[in-house]
Amino acid sequence: MALKTRTFGRGGVHPHDFKSLTNDIPIRNAPIPPEAVIPLNQHMGAPAECLVEAGDEIREGMLIGRAAGAFSANVHASIPGRVKEIRDMYTASGMPSKAVVVEFEGEFERSGNGEVEWRDREPQALLDAIREQGIVGMGGATFPTPIKFTTREGSPVETFVVNGVECEPFLTADHRLMLEKTANIITGIEIVSRILSPARVLIGVEENKPDAVAALREEIRRRAAQIDVVALRTRYPQGDEKQLLKALIGREVPSGGLPLDIGAVVSNVGTVHAIYEAVALGKPLVERIVTVTGTALRSPGNFKVRIGTPVGNLLEECGGFSAPPGKIVAGGPMMGFALADPEVPVVKGTSGILVLSQKDSRAVVQTPCIGCGRCIAACPFGLSPTTLYKWIEHREYAEAMNAGLMDCKECGCCGYVCPARIPLVQGMKLGKLMARRKG
Ligand code: SF4
Ligand code: SF4
Repeated sequence: MALKTRTFGRGGVHPHDFKSLTNDIPIRNAPIPPEAVIPLNQHMGAPAECLVEAGDEIREGMLIGRAAGAFSANVHASIPGRVKEIRDMYTASGMPSKAVVVEFEGEFERSGNGEVEWRDREPQALLDAIREQGIVGMGGATFPTPIKFTTREGSPVETFVVNGVECEPFLTADHRLMLEKTANIITGIEIVSRILSPARVLIGVEENKPDAVAALREEIRRRAAQIDVVALRTRYPQGDEKQLLKALIGREVPSGGLPLDIGAVVSNVGTVHAIYEAVALGKPLVERIVTVTGTALRSPGNFKVRIGTPVGNLLEECGGFSAPPGKIVAGGPMMGFALADPEVPVVKGTSGILVLSQKDSRAVVQTPCIGCGRCIAACPFGLSPTTLYKWIEHREYAEAMNAGLMDCKECGCCGYVCPARIPLVQGMKLGKLMARRKG
């Protein structure tokens, strides 16, 4: 039977997805790194306060960084061992951070020894468990989850949306998670529903993952749960929460606003799975699923990876390069960050590592804007990228702000369609940085 599909309104693109490189490959455990580099700044908000020093003995799952204020998150040791040093470093997204370097020693005492009963716990106690275990948005935004779930007085949650879209090309980590951990995801949704008491729950999945749609529907039917799985037309950037809400409930989040302004809360499937582990297993966020893939990698795959594992270890696990690598990216090709150093560690927000061949990452020749308007048609947020870029080029940041620069989600659609190969997204990023510096 054909799946009924919906999608968001304006703009967007449909790049070749390359998901067949890994979408049939089951998740396997990545090797434990001899040394884990665990940044204290791997979430949106203030870095965690360091609780250990060089020489300290560390147990797996031990709290090593305490959330420093409301907009922060706890950080736990992903491996047992000894603290070698506290080091200054840059994360994959270019954020400066202190990192706790742990040398692997000793034994794993598995964090989370079987499910505990959570259904009779108060919503606040569930929220406290999520905060304690350092849960953040696993889709890449790394927004501390407890803050998202702390609703405003008088603003009830009408709809809880679970984001299983995974619209970035190449990435299949969420797809495999939905197939292999279906029951845990549904339990995670039940935990969140106890916290938020939403009137309805929707899971959005793109139609290029029909097996995930079927697996989720089957588990929901088995439990007689009140959850709807909605198959969406494959289109980028549907995983953006504003576009997802438009596709699923037909409503627009106001400029500068939050989903809660239209009665919605959105969480990624990976986040919901981490919530299941935090609450039902008492397990802190010390590992995640990462797609390691690309046109220059010998054996791509999906891996369960300890936080702090250097990217280079994962590339080795994939058999190394099959062609000369041109670019290594953390995340997907549309919104990811090019890595200058393959020794940077996997963090809570690392959904993928992508290795592009030299042929696929050749520098392109930029030519002048021809005023074709394709970037405007492609922008899902209703912006005029060509106009914004011109203001930024002329250092007229106030004008760019007035033209909606801060509404740009850096999705990359404009740059993808531009025939003049103008680096529009890089321009937006620079413009935002300069506008913030100028206050
Ligand atoms: S990167 Fe920004 S300006 Fe370009 S299409 Fe995306 S939201 Fe629009
Ligand atoms: S797509 Fe490129 S060439 Fe066309 S208007 Fe936009 S910036 Fe100019």
